[in-house]
Amino acid sequence: EKATPSNFIRDIMVEDLHSGKHDTIITRFPPEPNGYLHIGHAKSIFINFSLADEFNGKTNLRFDDTNPLKEDIEFVESIKEDVKWLGYEWENLFFASNYFDVMYEKAILLIKKGLAYVEDLSADEIREYRGTLTEPGKESPSRNRSIEENLDLFTRMKNGEFANGEKVLRAKIDMSSPNINLRDPVLYRISHATHHNTGDKWCIYPMYAFAHPIEDAIEGITHSLCTVEFEDQRPLYNWVVEKCEMESKPRQIEFGRLNLTNTVMSKRKLKQLVEENIVDGWDDPRLPTISGLRRRGFTPEAIRAFCEELAISKSSGAVDVQMLEHFIREDLKLKAPRTMAVLKPLKVVITNYPEGQVEMLDAEINPEVPEMGTRQIPFSREIYIEKEDFMENPPKKYFRLFPGNEVRLKHAYFIKCEDVIKDENGEVIELHCTYDPETKSGTGFTGRKVKGTIHWVEATKAIPAEFRLYNSLILDEEEDEDGTFLDHINPNSLEIAKGFVEPNMKSAEANDKFQFFRHGYFNVDPKHSTKDSLVFNRVVSLKSSFKL
Ligand code: ATP
Ligand code: MG
Ligand code: MG
Repeated sequence: EKATPSNFIRDIMVEDLHSGKHDTIITRFPPEPNGYLHIGHAKSIFINFSLADEFNGKTNLRFDDTNPLKEDIEFVESIKEDVKWLGYEWENLFFASNYFDVMYEKAILLIKKGLAYVEDLSADEIREYRGTLTEPGKESPSRNRSIEENLDLFTRMKNGEFANGEKVLRAKIDMSSPNINLRDPVLYRISHATHHNTGDKWCIYPMYAFAHPIEDAIEGITHSLCTVEFEDQRPLYNWVVEKCEMESKPRQIEFGRLNLTNTVMSKRKLKQLVEENIVDGWDDPRLPTISGLRRRGFTPEAIRAFCEELAISKSSGAVDVQMLEHFIREDLKLKAPRTMAVLKPLKVVITNYPEGQVEMLDAEINPEVPEMGTRQIPFSREIYIEKEDFMENPPKKYFRLFPGNEVRLKHAYFIKCEDVIKDENGEVIELHCTYDPETKSGTGFTGRKVKGTIHWVEATKAIPAEFRLYNSLILDEEEDEDGTFLDHINPNSLEIAKGFVEPNMKSAEANDKFQFFRHGYFNVDPKHSTKDSLVFNRVVSLKSSFKL
């Protein structure tokens, strides 16, 4: 599948303005409120809003809510929130369900023109009659019903005289068309269900292929942008616009659907993960949903920059999730304050540091942005370092702590490991080190060099915190066609560590973002973090081999 760069769409818009076909550009983002938005939707939002904006045009947010069974007001609210959070303002907020009256009238018009008929065949029979790519379809016995009979049956469908599936309304187009979408597609189905907006007013609902072009035409959409799988439906889209005598003639244009490696994007699968409690809600930080990315610590700026890159690159197939990560690193590099956090702590006692003394050390908040100033961090006889920064029997080229070795403590002093304390199982539980007061950071000490610099936090004032480290939700395969994606779930997609952060983190608020020295970028989890028990989500680690 080839991704279509959006500049091809821009070219069409430019031409349509030049030729006078349109004097303004109107687009729409038309989500079905049957789930939360994901990063694929962000691509669609970006294309629709930014193209219209380039031409001083307008973009509507339209809920494509024509299927009462799957839709819910919770989804409507979350979609509005996500679009706003991404930084877009819609011109109008519309619900397709508010057009049900017009759609019904248009269906009647088609029947009166002899272009639609009520079908008695079951869904299975309709499929069977439809034929295949190599075999033409067969005409149904219902196809030759009189207009009067069709009008009567359709009215009775609307009045609730039939059960679900008993009848449908079909377009009368061409059962031998090489395009299967034109073999008398279904326009209306019966569904005795309460709709989130229209309640019990209707028991017949329009199909997407019929409803969407009418929605676009009603709103005066000039360019109806959708993903490539709708390409074969374009002739039907045009048929509906023409035969329903819509005044405005929107043009459907397709662009490449976004797929990301190592995750799932279809709402059906996302929903399954949520409903089976495999993840912590639609906003689980491992999900590619907008709310998941937000909770993970992504910013709207990073997501928009990613979409912009997609729009200009001609890459096809699944996009490497590392490309998305590249943009959040770029965005946070200069924005996020830097601080130290110990994720898996090991106590260190500095035996020659005076007992009871605490000194405050100066540390830059972000060395790349000196205007961000400095912070004060306490130092004393007891600190925590990372368990992984000590090895009793290190391999060659291990420059961190080991017995007899000296390292630099970031922002503080050199310390040297003198003694290793173990518990009865032989597990290292504490280190005894000495420090050299001459080596204080910032004093210009050059007497000797050490190869390793490690981070730490002062033990008596450190704040305990939980760190949630994420790995790909899906191993190797992005998605499986046969629906067994659950077999590919990474059992280690979430790792929880309990450690400490600097005391100045006590003022950290939900969604504050930090760079933890050597560990990466972290976000204060808006769902589980509290003043008394901080929870940080790792957005992304610091380094990657990924290149744009
Ligand atoms: P899903 O298969 O995930 O349910 P959908 O296309 O049914 O997706 P809608 O709510 O109908 O979801 O989508 C709203 C708009 O977003 C549509 O115009 C659709 O084409 C677009 N969109 C959805 N998924 C993607 C994607 N992965 N990449 C680009 N655009 C997408
Ligand atoms: Mg859809
Ligand atoms: Mg869908």
